Amino acid sequence: NADSAMYRAKEIGRNNLQLFNVEMAAKAHEKLLHQEELRDAIARQEFVLHYQPQVNLHTGRVFAAEALVRWQHPERGLVTPADFIPLAEETGLIVAIGDWVLNAACRQNKAWQDAGLPPIIVSVNVSARQFSEGDCVSRVAAALRDSGLEACYLELELTESLIMQDVPAAIATMHELEALGVQLAIDDFGTGYSSLSALKSFPVSRLKIDRSFVQDLPGDEDDRAITGAIISLAQKLNLRVIAEGVETQAQVDFLRAAGCTEIQGYFFSKPLPTTDFERVFSVCHASKLIAEVDAA
Ligand code: C2E
Ligand code: MG
Ligand code: MG
Ligand code: MG
Repeated sequence: NADSAMYRAKEIGRNNLQLFNVEMAAKAHEKLLHQEELRDAIARQEFVLHYQPQVNLHTGRVFAAEALVRWQHPERGLVTPADFIPLAEETGLIVAIGDWVLNAACRQNKAWQDAGLPPIIVSVNVSARQFSEGDCVSRVAAALRDSGLEACYLELELTESLIMQDVPAAIATMHELEALGVQLAIDDFGTGYSSLSALKSFPVSRLKIDRSFVQDLPGDEDDRAITGAIISLAQKLNLRVIAEGVETQAQVDFLRAAGCTEIQGYFFSKPLPTTDFERVFSVCHASKLIAEVDAA
C-alpha cells in the first residue's frame, strides 16, 4: 500500500497547494482593493493631520508640533498611519500623500501665525520614496511658496534607514533642503544603523530619541545607558535632542537630569485634532501651565 500512501500524499500536497494559491490570490486581491481605496482617498482628500505638542522643559512652552497623518475612512473611521503608510510606501502612493501632508502642515502653521499665535515649528515626517523620488526639494519649496510659511518654521523628519539607503545622495538632498532654510531632524534615532562618522556629515539640527528607548526609563539600565549616550552625543555634536514617547513624570525627571530638555509624548499630550491643539497651545502660552511640571 505504499502506492496508495503515495497517492494520498500527492493528493494532500495538491490540496495544500490549491489552498495556498487561493489564499495568495485572496491576499493579492485584498491588497489591490486597498490600493484602489487609497488612491480614491487621495483624490477625495480623506486625510487629516493631528498635531502633537513638543515642550521645552526650560521655558515650559510648546515650541513645536509634529504633524501626524490619519486617514478619515468613510466606514472604518480614523485609520492610523501604521495601517496604510506601509502600503502607500510600497505602491508609491506615499509621494502624493506626503505631498498633501507637507502642504497641509505648511498652510496650517501659516494660518496659526496669521491668527496671532506665537510662531512654532511644525515637523513633517518624510518617507523614503518621498525623499528619493519625485523631486523632494522642489516640492518642499513649492509648499513653502504656496503657503507663505517661512522655511525656518518647517522641520522635516528623516529616518536613519532612509538616509543610509544612499548616503551621498541623501547628504546632497539634505544640503539642498538646508539651503532652503528648513530644519532637518533624524527620527527614531538609535533604531537604524547610521555610523557615527556619517552622522557628523549630515546637516541636521536635531535627533529624536526613539520611543523604544524611552518607554522603560528610568528602570531599565540598558535604556538609561543608551539614552544618556545619545544625549551626550548630541551635545558634543552641537545638535538638539528630543525624547519621543515620554509618558511619565519619572521619565521626564530622568531625561531632564541627563540633559534632554525637549520632550514629546502622552505625558504632555497625545496628537490632537487642529482645534484641540490650538486650545492646548493657547492655554500653555497664556499661563505656562507646563512650567509647573518643570518646577515639580
Ligand atoms: P513617528 O514619526 O516616530 O511618530 C511618533 C509616533 O509615536 C506617533 O504615532 C505618535 O502618536 C506616537 N506617540 C507619541 N507619543 C507617544 C507616547 O507617549 N506613547 C506612545 N505609546 N506613543 C506615542 P502615529 O501617529 O501612529 O504615527 C506612527 C508613525 O507613522 C510615525 O512614527 C511615522 O513614522 C509615520 N507617520 C505618521 N504620519 C506620517 C506622515 O505624514 N508621513 C509619513 N511618511 N509617515 C508618517
Ligand atoms: Mg516622526
Ligand atoms: Mg519617531
Ligand atoms: Mg517612526
